[in-house]
Amino acid sequence: MGKKVVIVGGVAGGATALARLRRVDEHAEIVLFERGEYISFANCGLPYYIGGTIEERDALLVSTPEDIMNKFNADVRTFSEVTKINKEEKTIQVKNIKTGDVYKESYDYLILSTGSTPIKPPIPGIESPNVFSLWNIPDTDTIKSYINDKKPKNAIIVGGGFIGLEMAENLHDQGLEVSVVEMLDQVMAPIDFEMAQIVHEHLKSKGVHLYLKDGVSRFDYENGVTTITLQSGNSVQGDMVILSIGIRPNGELAKDSGLVQNQRGGIIVDKYLKTSDEYIYAIGDVIEVEDYVNKIQTMVPLAGPANKQGRIVANNILGKYKEEYKGTQGTSIAKIFDLTVASTGVNEKTLNRLGKEYKKDYNIALIHVNSHAGYYPGALPMTIKLLFDMEGKVLGSQIVGYDGVDKRIDVIATALRFNGKVEDLIDLELAYAPPYSSAKDPVNMVGFVADNLMKGLTDQVLWRELVELDYSKYQLLDIREEIEREIGSIDNSIHIPLDKLRERLSQLDKDTIYVPYCAIGLRGYLADRILKENGYKSVNLAGGYTTYKVMYKQSNIVEKTMPKAFSDTGVTNVTVGK
Ligand code: FAD
Repeated sequence: MGKKVVIVGGVAGGATALARLRRVDEHAEIVLFERGEYISFANCGLPYYIGGTIEERDALLVSTPEDIMNKFNADVRTFSEVTKINKEEKTIQVKNIKTGDVYKESYDYLILSTGSTPIKPPIPGIESPNVFSLWNIPDTDTIKSYINDKKPKNAIIVGGGFIGLEMAENLHDQGLEVSVVEMLDQVMAPIDFEMAQIVHEHLKSKGVHLYLKDGVSRFDYENGVTTITLQSGNSVQGDMVILSIGIRPNGELAKDSGLVQNQRGGIIVDKYLKTSDEYIYAIGDVIEVEDYVNKIQTMVPLAGPANKQGRIVANNILGKYKEEYKGTQGTSIAKIFDLTVASTGVNEKTLNRLGKEYKKDYNIALIHVNSHAGYYPGALPMTIKLLFDMEGKVLGSQIVGYDGVDKRIDVIATALRFNGKVEDLIDLELAYAPPYSSAKDPVNMVGFVADNLMKGLTDQVLWRELVELDYSKYQLLDIREEIEREIGSIDNSIHIPLDKLRERLSQLDKDTIYVPYCAIGLRGYLADRILKENGYKSVNLAGGYTTYKVMYKQSNIVEKTMPKAFSDTGVTNVTVGK
């Protein structure tokens, strides 16, 4: 018999570690303890089963204990909670949840993959019978049967993170009217405010009521209805409430056994994922990891890192292929109704929190592009924000769009992982045919814009800088077509269509700094170049009127159709309100 490896926690990290252990070593003795009934289930799929997209409950059960035992010759014990670790003895104490029996189990190596638990702060009324959290199969069953039995008409989601918004969509799919309450001024914390505004507009277009910058102060339950009193004093009522306000690592076991942890209870591991004890390793949501970009310690609860760590830890314990975990860059993606929202690396909020300053430490390229060639049917708009340092190194990106967001974020995530620079995004030769992309892929495009900024070929004003400009020196210059201006324009802008700009240059003043803007920033850049080349001062409005509109003129119009692609001239979809 080989090494005896005991695993605590049987889902993402734990089940992966088990499989890798067996694949590498046929002789290891492997025992896995899971306190719940299920192992290796698809927690990421739970909202879609509630919403009905995943029809069969069994589809969530990726592997059963029997499958794992048969396939991997491992001892899998469900309903078994590990309650203590005795490091000196190298034993754990296990409680059989069904019988109450408590027993000891020895190990040569122990892997903790105990995951995390949704936060339930002590807010008055939080224990009301129609307030739910979603984390595992029993939670899912409870929510699903509540919907089937009680037929709620409306729901309040507390917390606008990815699970909250996935639930918003799925409950909406079930015919419920949905409200989202979020303490921050934006949903989807991994993305920056201007990107989140696109999501806000989309949620509103689907009839979702958004309560931003407002927290819950109490829940009052009566006759099947919960009234949430918000910190602002406003209130919102729902037949059911989903709490999705964050998680905490399941670090109690580690704490009791004296393993070194951070302030949040995250277990501290070395680059081989070993804890402060020689024979105990830890992976997944419960550990602190290094932020791949900033090289600081953080916690990133995502399935991809947990799975990778499961593989690495097995290799390291078996000692055959020692591997380092090189950090987490937080690549994530979520479907929010028709939108896809994705990010990788660092966002601007984090850079600012770390004391980094725009144009001193980092720069931004913000573009609106089509998912594929505009002339081929079905192209849809996409917004990309790229953050890069002053040497051009890619720091992070966020993409919001309807189609092809996943592959673009993965390309940028890959570039970031290989310490890529803006010039690498330009060089990437990506697959192109009209149904899929453009000859200059959106990733190339954002690279071009960033490169132009780095070379000083163009300069830009961000949406947020518009309010700070000294308009005795700056002049907004709308260079769109007359028809576009009818949709809406920025106050106090003068209008010279791009194709008339050269002939009307003499009307402009060489001491004024012009801020040309178009629909999306592309023609604005052309105008910027014409002006500069002719001795005028100019800075392009990044993202053009599209970004301006989403930041300053959020629409309340319910959009029934999908947006249209940007046309070759940059004319944007006109279905969204003024
Ligand atoms: P888990 O997979 O949570 O497994 C931990 C297990 O340990 C649990 O089953 C728990 O019962 C068990 N356990 C804990 N303590 C003990 C103990 N003392 N004894 C025995 N057993 C114990 N991530 C993404 O990247 N993309 C997504 O789209 C995504 N969607 C998600 C949707 C939902 C609804 C949820 C809940 C999570 C989602 N995640 C997603 C997050 C992802 O599932 C987690 O990051 C990942 O599962 C973490 O893996 P883990 O092994 O650390 O913990």
